[in-house]
Amino acid sequence: MGDPAAHAAEPTGLGPDDVTHPHPPSPCGFGLRSRPKLGGGGPATALEAGRILFAGECRFVRAVQSIEALPPVGLAEVAFAGRSNVGKSSLLNALTGRHALARVSGMPGRTQQLVFFDLSGRLMLVDLPGYGYAQAPKSVQADWQGLMFDYLRGRPNLRRVMLLLDARVEVKASDAAAMEILDRAAVTFQLVLTKADGVPPTALAAKEREASKLARAHSAAHPEVVSTSSMTGLGLAELRAALADLAE
Ligand code: GDP
Repeated sequence: MGDPAAHAAEPTGLGPDDVTHPHPPSPCGFGLRSRPKLGGGGPATALEAGRILFAGECRFVRAVQSIEALPPVGLAEVAFAGRSNVGKSSLLNALTGRHALARVSGMPGRTQQLVFFDLSGRLMLVDLPGYGYAQAPKSVQADWQGLMFDYLRGRPNLRRVMLLLDARVEVKASDAAAMEILDRAAVTFQLVLTKADGVPPTALAAKEREASKLARAHSAAHPEVVSTSSMTGLGLAELRAALADLAE
């Protein structure tokens, strides 16, 4: 449950972790002391800020199953959500250059947990449980009521939810339901396409347009869509930059 050692020891069983990653693992544990901010510099500055943020230590804080057990409100938080199997664990691992940071993929019926990681003492990454295994919007509502909705609606330091969509498949009803819940909770969310290596460039461009259109249709959505691949490293630097922009 909330046992860090047990959590850290979980095998990921993730494909991408088994392949040689084009980006070497970030030196987690190499503590970052300075706190450069984005100073209105160009994209290169933003990418560098992202690189620096993720070069810092990433530390498991706790896994919670009840609203009372949430860590005290502190650092800015960014939560990662998506359908089970969307590639969330792989993305979290690839972003942080860690192999066992994120949980094993959500299994049906698996206990709902929110898992908190402190990144460089500047940003809390929150791994939300995968939803919609059964692909029914109702299952998202069931999964996300209670703890999840309370967290989303009541967390003042929650800066953004990264909502992951598989670039290779169509947007499911459960994804649409998740977006509606985020709208209702008035939490800014950003669409992130995963597994972009699995589609040809033209199809990916079409998918990005579709996602942008979706984003425009939701009041709580951030307009920018990021395409990523945990396999090839595509988009990771851009996503790190977006996260650095939200960090303390
Ligand atoms: P989660 O359930 O959302 O945490 O998903 P996982 O990270 O466990 O990934 C689900 C499946 O998708 C696994 O078989 C992964 O190997 C695969 N996968 C994850 N990321 C990528 C990616 O970037 N590209 C490809 N081709 N497969 C991926």
